[in-house]
Amino acid sequence: MHPEVHYHAGFQIYVDGVKQDFNDSRYFHYQLCGRTDETDLSPAEEQIEKAHLHEGASEIVHVHRDGATWGDLFKNLKFEYDQSKPIVGYSESGVIHDILNSQILDKQSVVILIGNQHNVRELLNKRVSLEQIEEVATASESCGTN
Ligand SMILES: [Zn+2]
Ligand SMILES: [Zn+2]
Repeated sequence: MHPEVHYHAGFQIYVDGVKQDFNDSRYFHYQLCGRTDETDLSPAEEQIEKAHLHEGASEIVHVHRDGATWGDLFKNLKFEYDQSKPIVGYSESGVIHDILNSQILDKQSVVILIGNQHNVRELLNKRVSLEQIEEVATASESCGTN
């Protein structure tokens, strides 16, 4: 049994100024999630439960395990990038240098820049809004587990 963990955060990833698009079925988690009643999840399923996307909101991550990091989301999206490029996360509260090892926080809105760091302020202005995050949170509360 896992304690019920279910919260949401916004994210956008840019590589050299180009926004990465995760609005595709291969990135979405279609199974019931928040499967707190099950004890027989495989390690792979446990990993997916940490951080994943659901259809209809490709910039909102659903977190179902304490301690899930942005690196867990990258792993679960199978998102790979040129590791010789700098990677910097930005949140409401400023720069997050070790973004992939940083925990995803409830209602956080993060912009992750890989490679060139031009127009940072402009990109931050376009980040996922709290309203968008809350909308997804409210929608998934009604089913309790989504
Ligand atoms: Zn989920
Ligand atoms: Zn959710």
